[in-house]
Amino acid sequence: MAFLEIARLEKSFGPLRVVRDFNLSVEQGEFISLLGPSGCGKTTVLRMVAGFEAPDSGAIQIEGKNVVRQRPNARKIGMVFQAYALFPNLTVAQNVGFGLRVAGVPRREAEERVAEMLSLIGLPDLGARYPFQLSGGQQQRVALARALAVRPRVLLLDEPLSALDAKIRVSLRTEIRTIQQRLGITTIFVTHDQEEALSMSDRIVVMNGGIAEQVGTPFEIYNHPTTKFVANFVGTIS
Ligand code: ADP
Repeated sequence: MAFLEIARLEKSFGPLRVVRDFNLSVEQGEFISLLGPSGCGKTTVLRMVAGFEAPDSGAIQIEGKNVVRQRPNARKIGMVFQAYALFPNLTVAQNVGFGLRVAGVPRREAEERVAEMLSLIGLPDLGARYPFQLSGGQQQRVALARALAVRPRVLLLDEPLSALDAKIRVSLRTEIRTIQQRLGITTIFVTHDQEEALSMSDRIVVMNGGIAEQVGTPFEIYNHPTTKFVANFVGTIS
């Protein structure tokens, strides 16, 4: 069994079937992108893995255990959202250490972990700043550090680059991927941007109308699309 196994996941909102028979096996340390147009169900899949949304049916297993009934905190998952979700009244260091405080990690150890995380994201000297004193790209790096500080088993990234301007977006792609590989953390990345998915992922799930149309490496998806939808979607470079 893979590190993370999603099986026959279903979710409707009223009459709208948003996720349909969704299956995915993710190996430990893999970087998987969920790629597809707006409204195809990517975020809903991510929110079900995180525990913010309950599936109608299906299973989500992490390290062999079904987490569907577990509360979000118990799942040991880190998440980064599109819009900067930092606490504006806390410093960078306090933001990064927030989850550690909640988890009751001793102060000394928490301080060391925060310093380690700030180095990891390349901002070792900015711990005393407040979010408003940072650029958008720096804020997203801090959000990443905050998600990683608690040493989650799985990292979920929901369009973390889409609010940034183009140049920063491209450099952060490489940076996120480098950090992910250094930590070897299993990651699911949601994006509607095919270039992002193609350049960052070990494998890509192309979604359409709540269904996984194709799962494959960037090479397979780009060079051997198995459906017309996939061919059209990855063929239109924005
Ligand atoms: P994506 O991330 O691919 O843009 P989402 O998973 O956010 O897609 O949404 C898929 C569909 O489900 C959309 O039509 C969206 O409007 C709908 N949806 C998402 N969340 C809710 C909700 N809480 N209540 C009703 N409809 C929702």
